[in-house]
Amino acid sequence: MPIITIHRGTHTIGGSCIEIASGGHRIILDLGLPLMGRDGTEIGEKALKVRSRENGILPNVPGLYHDQEPKVAAVLLTHAHMDHHGLLDHVHPKIPIYLSKGSHKLIEIGNVFYPEKTHIANTRHFEHWSPFQVGPFTITSYLVDHSAFDASAFLIECEGKKVFYTGDLRAHGRKEIVFENLIDRHFPKLDCLIMEGTTLGGEHTGCKNEREVEKQLKKVFKLQTDISFVFTSGSNIDRLVSLYKASQQCGKTLVIDLYTAYVLDQLKKNLPSLPPHKKDKVRVYYMRGHAKRLADNDLVKTLYYFKSRKIELDEIINTRVDMVVKLPIWNGMERIAAAANKESPLQEAQLIYSMWGGYLKKKSDVKDFCSTYGINMQRIHTSGHAYLDDLKRLAQALNPSVLIPVHTLAGDSFSDHFPNVVRLDDGIAHELK
Ligand SMILES: [Zn+2]
Repeated sequence: MPIITIHRGTHTIGGSCIEIASGGHRIILDLGLPLMGRDGTEIGEKALKVRSRENGILPNVPGLYHDQEPKVAAVLLTHAHMDHHGLLDHVHPKIPIYLSKGSHKLIEIGNVFYPEKTHIANTRHFEHWSPFQVGPFTITSYLVDHSAFDASAFLIECEGKKVFYTGDLRAHGRKEIVFENLIDRHFPKLDCLIMEGTTLGGEHTGCKNEREVEKQLKKVFKLQTDISFVFTSGSNIDRLVSLYKASQQCGKTLVIDLYTAYVLDQLKKNLPSLPPHKKDKVRVYYMRGHAKRLADNDLVKTLYYFKSRKIELDEIINTRVDMVVKLPIWNGMERIAAAANKESPLQEAQLIYSMWGGYLKKKSDVKDFCSTYGINMQRIHTSGHAYLDDLKRLAQALNPSVLIPVHTLAGDSFSDHFPNVVRLDDGIAHELK
């Protein structure tokens, strides 16, 4: 019978790595960079740079890595967030990595712009909802609603057993319909559900869904009497769409950086409805660091491609009341704020913090920026992960014989909310009966 081993994720969020073995064949689901140690304590950035099995950053999976004889049939990626894909470049090049086209594109874009690179070679794209075969495993990817673009959950069938792995998902983003479709799909009886529980045990602050985020942003932009700065991730496509819609509906100019412009342009090939569109008010602010990275990666023509949307510092300052600026802090917002502040104080300006709250606690750059210029900060955000009630609906619909909690700090409380919970420890094999 199939054997499931959670190499990392039974007691932590991030660094996911799951193995399913059947008759000597093995597949790995996700291979992420950990966000925290096994005891929930933070791992320093320095410690994360040394990646070995000895220090535990690489999960101890035999036959997976460069320096081992390859004994894994495939690695499957649910989505392009670092805590799920960040260690893929350690996989032996003979082992194929299956991922969606959108995930692959996001990883490649990250390799252009970020110092942290994940070079993957032996890749194969799957289509959502189309089963494919890896050894004895029949695998089907289901598109899920998550803060990462083109994210998957997997149904894995082998030896007559059915295992469903949620990856990261939610029911309150812009693709909430795919969550409802999953619930309405009436899967044949599942033997095992490996389910994320990121939001369990945490505080529920922020907007209830992405539509509410858009509404709140609109409210702010409509009433703004000076420039608005927005701090958010350039790879959270749902959020960029909310920001785009809110700014355009209020007649504001949305200023984005080259990275964000490039992300949207690349993903547009998969999803043409993504912004920007002709005759809208989206402009691109060129930062030297981004331009250099494009040039270093043989993408100089991209600099010309966005030229018609290019905006200079002076224009931003001169029409600041009409500007919504989504840029990194250093060299981006900071440069604009310093120049604007010289003209007149920024006390009417605002910064919208539109990201996971943990970052605010970890790094002080956003707070420092606001206090330096006397800028008011407000938070408008919704989680990338499902709430308990939605997870309950999912578990009820999928009705598994065994439910294994992962990607959670509250795994021990799962049995208070769901039936058939089996609590595993990292690295301990569990045979499906
Ligand atoms: Zn994620």
